Amino acid sequence: MATRLSYTFDNGPWPGTTERLLDFLGDRNIKATFFVVGERLKDPESRKLTERAWAEGHWIGNHTLTHTTPLGRDGGKERVEREIGETEQLLGSMAHPRKFFRPNGSGSLGKHILSPEARDYLVTNKYTMVTWNSVPQDWIEPHSHWLSRAKDDLKKLDWPVLVLHDKFIGEMLDTLAQFHDHLLEHGVEITQEFDPACVPIDRGVSHPGLVELTSS
Ligand SMILES: [Zn+2]
Repeated sequence: MATRLSYTFDNGPWPGTTERLLDFLGDRNIKATFFVVGERLKDPESRKLTERAWAEGHWIGNHTLTHTTPLGRDGGKERVEREIGETEQLLGSMAHPRKFFRPNGSGSLGKHILSPEARDYLVTNKYTMVTWNSVPQDWIEPHSHWLSRAKDDLKKLDWPVLVLHDKFIGEMLDTLAQFHDHLLEHGVEITQEFDPACVPIDRGVSHPGLVELTSS
C-alpha cells in the first residue's frame, strides 16, 4: 500500500470544471500540481483559473504549448523552444521556481517523450521534468472507472504520482471524494513533492533513466 501520493491535474485549465475542482481541493485542504497547456492561457477566463490555483498554493507546471505530437516524435530545436519556452513565458511568475515541465505522451513513457534537442533544452535551461507512475485513464468512458484503476495502483506503488485531468474530474468530484477518503482511511500522506523516480531531470541535472525517455 502506498505511503504517499502526489495529485497532479493535467491539460487544463477548463472554465466550468477547473473552478469546481479548486473548490473541492480548497475544502479538503489538498495541495496539488496543475500542469497547464500554454495555449489555454491565452484565453482570459482560463488564465484566471490558473492564477487562482497558483494563489491558493497549488504548484503550476508547464505541459507544452499545444499538447500535440510528443516531442520525441517531432522535437527539432525550434519546436522545442516554442512548446516549452513560450509556455514558460505565458506562465510568467506563476511558474514554480523549479521550472516544472511535464511532456505529453498519451499516458505512456518511452522514447516518444523527448527528442535529444528537447532533453538538451530542459537541461540547459534548468527545468525540472516530472513524469508519472499512475495514470488511471480518466479520459476513457465510463470516466468514473478511473477510481478502481487508481486504487489498484495504490496497492502496487509506494508513492503514486497520479495523473488526472481537471476537464473530467471536475465533473465527477464524487469519485475524487471517494478516492481521497480511501487515502485518508489508509493513512496515505498527500504531498506536493514527487517520487524522485518520476523526476528524470531536477533543476537541470539529469538522471540516468532519462535515456529511456529520449529518442535517438
Ligand atoms: Zn497531457
